[in-house]
Amino acid sequence: MAEPTPPSPRTTVRRGADRAVYASDDVKAILDAGMIAHVGVQTPDGPLVLPMAYGRDETTLYLHGAAANHLLGTGNGHEICATVTHVDGLVMARTPFHNSMNYRSVVVRGLATKIVDKAAKLRALKIITDHVVDNWDLGREVSDIDEKKTLVLEMPLAEASAKVRAGDPIDEPEDMAGPWWAGVIPVETRIGTPYPAADYTGDRDVPAAYRALDGTVR
Ligand SMILES: Cc1cc2nc3c(=O)[nH]c(=O)nc-3n(C[C@H](O)[C@H](O)[C@H](O)COP(=O)(O)OP(=O)(O)OC[C@H]3O[C@@H](n4cnc5c(N)ncnc54)[C@H](O)[C@@H]3O)c2cc1C
Repeated sequence: MAEPTPPSPRTTVRRGADRAVYASDDVKAILDAGMIAHVGVQTPDGPLVLPMAYGRDETTLYLHGAAANHLLGTGNGHEICATVTHVDGLVMARTPFHNSMNYRSVVVRGLATKIVDKAAKLRALKIITDHVVDNWDLGREVSDIDEKKTLVLEMPLAEASAKVRAGDPIDEPEDMAGPWWAGVIPVETRIGTPYPAADYTGDRDVPAAYRALDGTVR
């Protein structure tokens, strides 16, 4: 297998480098499977990391929030960092020292820029919305006021790394014949069955697109 090529020195995985993945398709697959990014910004009163929804296209990651959003407002025009993590399993070794987790994670670093152009902003909002659940076209159209109340940042996907661990525990050779159990406890994020809001007075069925998600794993 070819050696992975990191996009920059600062996104080069140093510890556990054999778990590094830099191929853009792998990074994008991990982003596509996720729902929440933890977004880190250097603010005047110290570093701040907050969970947020996100979306992406081929070259760019998009984040949105209220126009007055502190984190996004501070991040505009500055370097920020976004991470997405999936825990796939709890890896139970013969000694707690070798316990681990199976995971897929991505770190994206880059300059965040506010999207000003209205058409580009609406496009980014659709991407973020549809990334979580494909429903931009299922609700009321976004109004001019909605659009003005919303801040959207974009950051390039060019500087991204992924790290992946899969498989069994890695124990010491001398422990292998011992009496201790070793194995993996799987972990998954599963979508449940949709139910109507308590104040929903309509008579529409749950949209087919939502019903189709029931039982799927992210
Ligand atoms: C699953 C999930 C998805 C979200 N998606 C989005 C999104 O797409 N866009 C968006 O704008 N917001 C989202 N939020 C909310 C987001 O985390 C912030 O609370 C929100 O953006 C306000 O940011 P702010 O910088 O204006 O916060 P401020 O209100 O200025 O934050 C002040 C302080 O409040 C605390 N705080 C803020 N947010 C949180 C939090 N989530 N948990 C615990 N403490 C907190 C921190 O100590 C922070 O320093 C999401 C939250 C969750 C849990």
